[in-house]
Amino acid sequence: AGRNLACLFDPAMDPAMDLALAERRRLEADLRRAIAQDELVLHYQPQVRPGRGQLFVGQPSAGQSPDSQHADGGPLEGRLVGFEALVRWQHPSRGLVPPGAFIPLAEETGLVVALGEWVLRAACREAAGWARPLKVAVNLSPRQFQQIDLPERVLAILTETGLPPDRLEIEVTETVIINDMARAMTVLRRLKSFGIRIAMDDFGTGYSSLATLQAFPFDTIKIDRSFVSQLEQRPAAAMIVRAVLGLGRSLDIQVVAEGVETEGQMLFLIAEGCGEMQGYLFGKPQPVEQIAGLVAGERPVAAERRET
Ligand code: C2E
Ligand code: MG
Ligand code: MG
Ligand code: MG
Repeated sequence: AGRNLACLFDPAMDPAMDLALAERRRLEADLRRAIAQDELVLHYQPQVRPGRGQLFVGQPSAGQSPDSQHADGGPLEGRLVGFEALVRWQHPSRGLVPPGAFIPLAEETGLVVALGEWVLRAACREAAGWARPLKVAVNLSPRQFQQIDLPERVLAILTETGLPPDRLEIEVTETVIINDMARAMTVLRRLKSFGIRIAMDDFGTGYSSLATLQAFPFDTIKIDRSFVSQLEQRPAAAMIVRAVLGLGRSLDIQVVAEGVETEGQMLFLIAEGCGEMQGYLFGKPQPVEQIAGLVAGERPVAAERRET
């Protein structure tokens, strides 16, 4: 129940709590089996860089207003730069389970370390086989960062799979850094020394300061979806996005906008000089077989037309 206080729990007194506990234990055992038996699967979400005369084109679709084309009339174009790997659990009876439903439990129980290694190995193996040298971004949890030999483990996976280190980007959240600054610094510096790229995920939702941002060796800042989604409704959200883009420019850190869903958001971001974007507008996370055409460059990444 807390420091130096253990509390005896009698299931007869609180059947609801007993049920919740039993459910958790079952989920934990299930997850342990899932990792061992390859029930996990990665979905990949495209990351694109806006620009012209390159690979992707938002196909003008029926009913599209003329001003949804870019100001000078040309189609909106951009280039596919890589994918973020996002884990799902192909549960035998529950179906496809999203990470929000099991990552927190995996983190609490420490299972996330084995799960994280599975994810890294699978992402590196799959990316190593792609027809073009696109980047793959992998999320690492705070618990994984408590392993002081994490960089060596990652390096071993790169060697095993043959993926060049500069094609891997590790995404960490602010929690990783806040937990233990000294350790995070050591681990991130070592990963960087191998040539691996480092991204700060969900920027703006935690408590890290400007000092943290410039002290740590980040290549990328990902602006959290909560700001991007409010761009057009809340002037404050637009101001924050603009400020983060300015910060990225002055610190020479690449900024990626997460959760771009509408053309209005995309146009705002382009106008403000945002280098990279990710979101349903360009594609949802998809199984590896479904991104093969994109990877090979046979199929353009089309910005889906939606009402804003
Ligand atoms: P994240 O790393 O910030 O990943 C982005 C999440 O936003 C993904 O949810 C993605 O599907 C979703 N998303 C992307 N674009 C849009 C959009 O335009 N609109 C909306 N509404 N959502 C969008 P997902 O796949 O459910 O993952 C949720 C979180 O779970 C991730 O957030 C990440 O923190 C964690 N996660 C996922 N895979 C892993 C993993 O392999 N290891 C660890 N430790 N965490 C993971
Ligand atoms: Mg992420
Ligand atoms: Mg994120
Ligand atoms: Mg997030």
